Amino acid sequence: MKILVVGSGGREHALAWKLAQSERIQMVYVAPGNGGTARDVRLLNVDITDPHQLADFVVAENIALTVVGPEAPLAAGIVNLFRARGLKVFGPTREAAQLESSKDFAKAFMERHGIPTAKYQTFSDAAQAHAYIDANGAPIVIKADGLAAGKGVVVAMSLEEAHAAVDTMLLDNRLGDAGARVVIEEFLAGEEASFIVMCDGKNILPLATSQDHKRLKDNDEGPNTGGMGAYSPAPIVTPAMHARVMREIINPTINGMAKDGIPFTGFLYAGLMIDAAGNPKTLEFNCRMGDPETQPIMARLKSDLVTIMEHAVNGTLDAVELEWDRRTAVGVVMAAGGYPDDPRKGDVIDGIPAETAECVTFHAGTRLADGQLLTSGGRVLCVVGLGDSVKMAQKQAYETVDKIHFNGAQFRRDIGWRGLKH
Ligand code: ATP
Repeated sequence: MKILVVGSGGREHALAWKLAQSERIQMVYVAPGNGGTARDVRLLNVDITDPHQLADFVVAENIALTVVGPEAPLAAGIVNLFRARGLKVFGPTREAAQLESSKDFAKAFMERHGIPTAKYQTFSDAAQAHAYIDANGAPIVIKADGLAAGKGVVVAMSLEEAHAAVDTMLLDNRLGDAGARVVIEEFLAGEEASFIVMCDGKNILPLATSQDHKRLKDNDEGPNTGGMGAYSPAPIVTPAMHARVMREIINPTINGMAKDGIPFTGFLYAGLMIDAAGNPKTLEFNCRMGDPETQPIMARLKSDLVTIMEHAVNGTLDAVELEWDRRTAVGVVMAAGGYPDDPRKGDVIDGIPAETAECVTFHAGTRLADGQLLTSGGRVLCVVGLGDSVKMAQKQAYETVDKIHFNGAQFRRDIGWRGLKH
């Protein structure tokens, strides 16, 4: 069987890597892919990003199904287009992807369906937004309504910061259309966790839990990034918490979407904030897998992903039972110098060791040029170590990280620290 993965990040490398392990696979295409997917003999990069051309390619190559990694093509309707041409694809439609592509849509949806989340209001008028901030005080959170590649959220600790964020988005129009409306919401304190499920429109299949590390530097300091590392499982999501999140957040979301006439298919990612008393609330929805959460999660998945994907596109996920490696996986992101503001490109990458049963390196911002591997984006690699404890998994990952070299490399030394605490 042939499968196409759409995207070029570490998430897509991990998905393609896992799909390619299946005995049933003839070829995994990655569009457009990266230096790591280019080097893997079981994968083939396809230099197409236009969705119409991709659909033509799928027909021409007789590809059985397509998995879409990133949010932008989903929000642009790639699933609608593929389905209209009778092609099997795993991901949400443009309409369902609004859970991620419009924060106002997501908040209104949660309110309508009684899904726990922060109190909020949406504004397009700056004066009204400022008045709301003054009435509610700081800390307070300002979010651009649309997709802003992780740059659209300001967690304002002071009134000054909050007012400035409103001006940046609504008056200076710094985020374009994405910031033409803002959601202003209550600040939630607690510990975050990533809760990802697969859904075929009616059946829900939860994946292993994980936690991301958004800040650039150790001890959760420095600016926010796309994610500097993740580990799985997340011990804060105990079996009781898991059951509660399914009951209070995931099931009502999937049922609510179906009731609203927008059945959800694809990966649904609920970003959770769990407060000190152990109550989970939804910070956000993503309509795709997380990056870097996918990397440790795929490293732990023992079941055949091709079979799972087949059930997912055929509406039979209820027939699937997932098997997980019991070990912990810790994924350490190695980012380019200057990331996140202005990542340097074109540095030579050396020393990536061959994959072992304890460690695998996924690529993101890399490309091959004349056989040489070069950096080509902000997050360059994600090194995933597996071990019987968080500590042992960290040891595996960092032993490999210490062997890899490129000029300006930045990474955290403490990925998984919350797991050590539990
Ligand atoms: P992503 O890049 O993960 O898609 P995003 O731009 O959609 O992010 P959110 O995930 O909504 O933004 O928020 C980013 C981060 O801001 C969260 O991971 C969390 O740390 C923080 N945050 C968001 N909302 C709140 C809140 N209500 N209270 C406290 N912190 C928050």
